[in-house]
Amino acid sequence: MSQVQGQLYIVATPIGHLDDISQRAIAILRQVSWVAAEDTRHSGKLLSHLGISARFLALHDHNEKQRAASLLQKLQAGEDVALISDAGTPLISDPGYSLVRLCRDAGVRVVPVPGPCALIAALCCAGLPTDKFHFIGFLPAKSGQRQQVLQQIPNNVGTLICYEAARRVKDTLADVVAVFGEERELVLAKELTKTFEHFEHGTAASITAWLEEDPQRCQGEMVLMIAPAAAKADDDIHPAAVQTLKLLLSELPLKKAAALTAEIHGEKKNALYKLGLTWSE
Ligand code: SAM
Repeated sequence: MSQVQGQLYIVATPIGHLDDISQRAIAILRQVSWVAAEDTRHSGKLLSHLGISARFLALHDHNEKQRAASLLQKLQAGEDVALISDAGTPLISDPGYSLVRLCRDAGVRVVPVPGPCALIAALCCAGLPTDKFHFIGFLPAKSGQRQQVLQQIPNNVGTLICYEAARRVKDTLADVVAVFGEERELVLAKELTKTFEHFEHGTAASITAWLEEDPQRCQGEMVLMIAPAAAKADDDIHPAAVQTLKLLLSELPLKKAAALTAEIHGEKKNALYKLGLTWSE
């Protein structure tokens, strides 16, 4: 008879408040043969707080591919493995993708043990639209690249969510103004589930002013949320769409170029058509 395979559990852990770990997560972490963790010292503290002594294996960005192969062998030999990250849900701006992919391809069962995730905690309390949202993880560290990434995001993706390092947040707010303008509504969610949890709602300028009032406010963990553009006037078209329209117009009639641009960027066809008309006047 063939060996019964182990299961890989993807276990969410707290993003601040230690009580946010689920009963099921605790039970799984107690029962598995191995806990794969980004930083075994950091996760060791959480598990000892929970009274769990586990066998750890380090799985981080730099060793994920090799480590995934050896974890697969353990799973195929019948041992259960739990994957955790330093905080929140593994794989969400955290390691684990190579391992999950390998397990799926090998037919090993991958089981979610859901729980805290900073982007969801931030979004559901921000007061911004939640019906549609787009998560872009961490933006690039350099301003030029950051603006490029922001420019390429179509208008119709709903609330835009990014993780941001405290030391870069003011520069990122300046780039948000450069790409989306001064008026765009934003929410900065800080230190979620921790003592100094705070949601700052406003424009890039008002949030920057709030950050500058107290140097401590530029520290800690942050999620930046950018509201969808308000219902638009005809002339308020995303710069990337304007560029696409210009490019297509060099090859296509206005009607076709406007229709294609509308489809690519989620803009209104009529507004694009009218804009195109102004260029030929
Ligand atoms: N896997 C995690 C999750 O599920 O949210 C995210 C890991 S990512 C490496 C860390 C980033 O998540 C931080 O830089 C910050 O942007 C965000 N983050 C994590 N914990 C947070 C918290 N308590 N408050 C605000 N943002 C947080």
